[in-house]
Amino acid sequence: MREIFVILVVILVLLGLTALRYRKQIAGILGLARALKEAKDAVGHSRVISSDEKTSIPLVNCSKCGVWVPQNKARKIGEIFYCSDECLSVASVSADA
Ligand SMILES: [Zn+2]
Repeated sequence: MREIFVILVVILVLLGLTALRYRKQIAGILGLARALKEAKDAVGHSRVISSDEKTSIPLVNCSKCGVWVPQNKARKIGEIFYCSDECLSVASVSADA
């Protein structure tokens, strides 16, 4: 029974020494795994958002600066879309002048 305890201690010491020796590599692998997981989460997240926008909200072209914006975020005057209040005001000022 005592031999098993000694063997366990030796194995733990060997594992500890191996971990000490390769701690930089282990930390690198753990960091890489974490980065991969974060990247995977980000990709899955953005894919969900973009597919939602594609299926539900059409893009419209700002008639002032040409930027494409989702229709629900665009300002609409008649049949003309603008990307922002800024483009809308610039366009209406230039139309008045
Ligand atoms: Zn614009």
